[in-house]
Amino acid sequence: MPVQKYSFNHQSVNYYFDAAFVDLKKIVQKQPAIIITDENVFAAHHKRFKSWKTIVLKAGEAYKVQATVDSIISQLIELNADRDTLLIGVGGGVVTDITGYVASIFLRGISFGFVPTTVLAMVDASIGGKNGIDVGMYKNMVGTIKQPHFLLFDTALLKTLPDQQWRNGFAEIIKHAAIKDEVMSKELKENSLKDYQKNKEAFKQLIKRNALLKTKVVQGDEFEKGERKLLNFGHTLGHALENQYNLMHGEAVSIGMAFAANLSQKMLGFKQAPKLITLIQKYGLPTEADYNKKKVVEMLLADKKREGDSINFILLEKIGKAVIKKIPLEQLYKQL
Ligand code: NAD
Repeated sequence: MPVQKYSFNHQSVNYYFDAAFVDLKKIVQKQPAIIITDENVFAAHHKRFKSWKTIVLKAGEAYKVQATVDSIISQLIELNADRDTLLIGVGGGVVTDITGYVASIFLRGISFGFVPTTVLAMVDASIGGKNGIDVGMYKNMVGTIKQPHFLLFDTALLKTLPDQQWRNGFAEIIKHAAIKDEVMSKELKENSLKDYQKNKEAFKQLIKRNALLKTKVVQGDEFEKGERKLLNFGHTLGHALENQYNLMHGEAVSIGMAFAANLSQKMLGFKQAPKLITLIQKYGLPTEADYNKKKVVEMLLADKKREGDSINFILLEKIGKAVIKKIPLEQLYKQL
């Protein structure tokens, strides 16, 4: 099975593009392995899990919390997991985030790998080693940075993914185009979600292009001192809205990207805000929302990107070129 190896500070990760779920057997031939998945993925693909020890979680962001971590750890103990056990997160970003987190802390750290099953997890959540859970309304408040041992991409798993979740994933693809890849933004403009759902080859290439775009950014700045911050484009406002208004991650990020595009226009003379907003809408994603400004600012105060009274905000100079700007929260409040 063809494999591409990418090195990070403490570890290299094997990427199996164009693979199939059954290939998992070849990857974990010797090691005892336990799969962690959620009830939707398990129900949609139950045959695939037959010969694997599997822990099935309740689905959804509401379960990306400490109580689920406790429950997984109890089940690992019952299953006699030890330091040789490999955890495999098979699912969307919720499953991969929590699996990576549990693997980082269980017995002070065991190996893990991912089989992402949503578009969002394939192009974003499974890549880069950020693992973690939410605390109350605060997203990803607790976590670790630790790379998985492998990533297996099987786009056939997406056959059962609801359209709403496809759109969700395209928010992160549009984000990548906005901050780093103008050529991809043109390709996205010329195509539609339906085109990508029909044209398997084009879609596989799109997944690979995005997975590698994120990989490259993370390789250059694994611990988010500079360049990696650009991946937060649309996420500052997005995170403040996501759990508060029960939006999907991609929807919240889309509203955040539209806001950041308009702010870029005001602050940096960014001329392509309407173009970017039209692209987001073309993929069925929202670009506006009614929200309580005060609550948003309360959330921003707890944002990991806040520094004193200011917040590091990602803006665009042009499509394909993002910059980090420190904006006082007071000034931001006026723009909300
Ligand atoms: P998710 O994991 O909740 O999956 C979305 C829904 O799709 C769930 O109901 C799930 O059960 C279902 N599902 C998953 N795969 C399926 C399939 N193949 N067929 C049918 N149903 C399927 O959400 P997500 O959008 O994949 O990920 C969002 C999470 O990812 C958020 O918690 C976000 O914070 C996190 N994230 C993490 C990073 C990171 O770098 N670690 C980056 C981006 C997002």
